[in-house]
Amino acid sequence: MSPTDSDVLSCLSKTRRKLHQHPEEGWTEFETTWFVAEELRKLGFPIKTGIANIDPLHALGRSEEKVKKAIERAVAHGVPAKFIEEAGEFTGVVAEVETGRPGPVTALRFDMDCVCVAETNSPDHIPVKEGFASQNPGLMHACGHDAHTSVGLSVARWVKDHLAELSGTIRLIFQPAEEGVRGAQAMTAGGTVEGVDYLIGAHIGGFAKLGEILILQGGILATTKLDIKFEGIPSHAAADPEKGRSALLAACSAATMIAGIPRHSEGDSRISIGVLHAGEGRNVTPAHAYMQIETRGITDHVNDFLTERVQKIVAGVAEASEVKSSVTICGTSMTLPPSPELQAAALQVAQSIPGIRAAYDSRVSASEDCTVFMNRVVETGGEAVFFMYGANHHGHHRPDFDIQDEAMLNGYRMFTRMVARLNGKN
Ligand SMILES: [Zn+2]
Repeated sequence: MSPTDSDVLSCLSKTRRKLHQHPEEGWTEFETTWFVAEELRKLGFPIKTGIANIDPLHALGRSEEKVKKAIERAVAHGVPAKFIEEAGEFTGVVAEVETGRPGPVTALRFDMDCVCVAETNSPDHIPVKEGFASQNPGLMHACGHDAHTSVGLSVARWVKDHLAELSGTIRLIFQPAEEGVRGAQAMTAGGTVEGVDYLIGAHIGGFAKLGEILILQGGILATTKLDIKFEGIPSHAAADPEKGRSALLAACSAATMIAGIPRHSEGDSRISIGVLHAGEGRNVTPAHAYMQIETRGITDHVNDFLTERVQKIVAGVAEASEVKSSVTICGTSMTLPPSPELQAAALQVAQSIPGIRAAYDSRVSASEDCTVFMNRVVETGGEAVFFMYGANHHGHHRPDFDIQDEAMLNGYRMFTRMVARLNGKN
């Protein structure tokens, strides 16, 4: 390992440990946004924060109540209230780095939010053992986005140090609210990837082991997240049962029918009914029911089929049950768009990193909202690629999720080598 690599490694480790202690869920990443913005400012990069990158009409699944609480916490932790106000109470940062020489616009995307998981307090868990476990109860960087943000900041420093050797523009996107596939949609609608020639996104871990870099050629599922509400009519369950209309029974009927939507002949699909809350009391006809469900499909077409069926079932059940219903879409993302040339370039770059096993892969079977950025870039004539940089871990979204510092170094090497290749002066 060269001395520079060990400097980068210690910086990655330090930054990630800091972020790991202060996890923030989607749309509430005020402390993270402030920290990233300050680091980028120190490098002298022009930045735009919050609302400047976001179309609020497309900011799905954002709870004002959670945002208010997070602002209080962030201000108590030293984030200037003015900074949050200027960002319109939205999170996320974009830095536009101009080299002053003609060349492509290359966007690098890093997500920053955490997961609603309580971190284990097991003494064997390295963040516990080494004193950097989550300080926010019920919240944890259990997907590795703390690592993504750390890699992004080290890549930003590399861009600064190598500016004289680069051409074109490097756009560094620090995205909020990836979990629930919400942030990329709002940023894309806000123009964040307009004019981009190349977009590069990545995730740590997954099925990639430490030392592996996998260039995705497929496998990312299109998904839609739906919140469903039923509103019935309450009545005394014994004295006036016929006067009531049960939102609970409507939700149950909808749940069994949704679970029974047929599979699609065009490939993989998933439906998850994750939440069903209903009812007010034992002897009251239940007036309210609330469900959270999600659909996924191997193509946008398969996912759309499922989403449309869900909407028809909800409307049909509501009519038959004489209750009111509403369906709110609170997150969407797509499948990977084709970019064979950039994928081939990424594979070559990964193969050039000493000690790395590089390959194409299509095994993901999960969703990732970077695809929203990627599809927009490809639609407007650019190219986009997504890679996984491996880590050894116990499984994402688990209380004992952890990664290795060396894994971040591999992500850093891949991003910086890609920028050198795409935006090198010659
Ligand atoms: Zn993730």
